[in-house]
Amino acid sequence: MKCPFCGHPDTQVVDSRVSEDGDSVRRRRRCLSCEKRFTTFETVELRMPRIVKTSGSRAEFDEAKLRTSFTRALHKRPVPTEQVDAAIERIGQRLLALGEREVPSRTIGQMVMKELYKLDKVAYIRFASVYRSFKDVDDFRDAIAEVDKPAPKRRRAPVR
Ligand SMILES: [Zn+2]
Repeated sequence: MKCPFCGHPDTQVVDSRVSEDGDSVRRRRRCLSCEKRFTTFETVELRMPRIVKTSGSRAEFDEAKLRTSFTRALHKRPVPTEQVDAAIERIGQRLLALGEREVPSRTIGQMVMKELYKLDKVAYIRFASVYRSFKDVDDFRDAIAEVDKPAPKRRRAPVR
């Protein structure tokens, strides 16, 4: 790191310690040129990525909007609110875990589809029909077939 006093590009770390709460690392540095000392802090950066819409415009991630998508799809469906909260929480965590500054809105759309698929098949169809904007009846039939197909059987190792 560059020295803030003389701009010299080389500084030496003389001491390094983790903060009491474990959230940051504090480093004492010494400039190799002017010998002045300064402190730096290293913290984890967790920022929600911005959302890139299909139009190319950018928007801040909006949890309220995400919740609205769930509420609309789950209208009058027997799904407990706690499960919806958990699904929204998971999407938020997944977005953070991507560590990206920007993500396309379709990434979130796919995450919502995945969660709705687990929560309620009718809600999944509702969301998918709007989200994928089915071009014709066949597309819609495919989506329904996807939901109707039996859960894949678990493969078992042959017993010997
Ligand atoms: Zn210096």
